[in-house]
Amino acid sequence: MRAFVPLTAFIFGLFIGSFLNVCIHRIPLNESIVFPASRCPKCRSKIKPWDNIPVVSYLILRGRCRNCGEQISLRYPAVELLSGLLAVAMLYRFGLTPSFPIYYLWACALLVITFIDIDYQIIPDSLSIGGAIVGLVLVWWMPLSYRDALIGLGLGAGLLLVVIYGYYFLTGRQGMGGGDVKLLGMIGVFTGWQGVLFTIFMGSLLGTMAGIPWVLLKKKNMQAAIPFGPFLALGALIYVLWGDLFINWYFGILR
Ligand SMILES: [Zn+2]
Repeated sequence: MRAFVPLTAFIFGLFIGSFLNVCIHRIPLNESIVFPASRCPKCRSKIKPWDNIPVVSYLILRGRCRNCGEQISLRYPAVELLSGLLAVAMLYRFGLTPSFPIYYLWACALLVITFIDIDYQIIPDSLSIGGAIVGLVLVWWMPLSYRDALIGLGLGAGLLLVVIYGYYFLTGRQGMGGGDVKLLGMIGVFTGWQGVLFTIFMGSLLGTMAGIPWVLLKKKNMQAAIPFGPFLALGALIYVLWGDLFINWYFGILR
């Protein structure tokens, strides 16, 4: 593929990332994601279009509001950059097929879910249930059958419910929330049951790896916990991008 196509995807992804920042900020507050224009959180001055160029404006303004000099979180350019990289990654994974925009949008939803879950420990239904419905409508253009998508949905939501109730039954504590159940169901629509199993495995592995230093540093117990949604999102993305590699490697070892 010529450099032009991935470069276009990357720049397009940066601008989408700018919109994702708005979503992360406003969806939990139930604000419109379209109006009004973005404002500085401190001085409320409107951000001019030329100061709103993804990543570039942040570098030029050295991470400060042009009007009041308030420091702007590094998260804004980070989300834009991640969005751009995900666009390129999905392009390489699916080529110029309908699956490319579909799975890129899905990755964007996971990105928004990740940061909202980090901030508020919630996963909005509009993204999880909404995403599952959109996914079911679009299955025709995705590399899996309706049957696989529905099994993925049922297994994703069902399996995690079993885990949550099992954990509650054994320990009397609630480890994960209903938001995670809906999220894994939504992931299942896009990955099928194989992806659900991989996502639970990879998400738990990553969550545990991240959880150990967290517990050591903060001296909290494991269940005063980190949100699980971001790890499910990351596990699902790894499955879609490199799942084949992992599975081949794993079964290669067993042979
Ligand atoms: Zn300001």
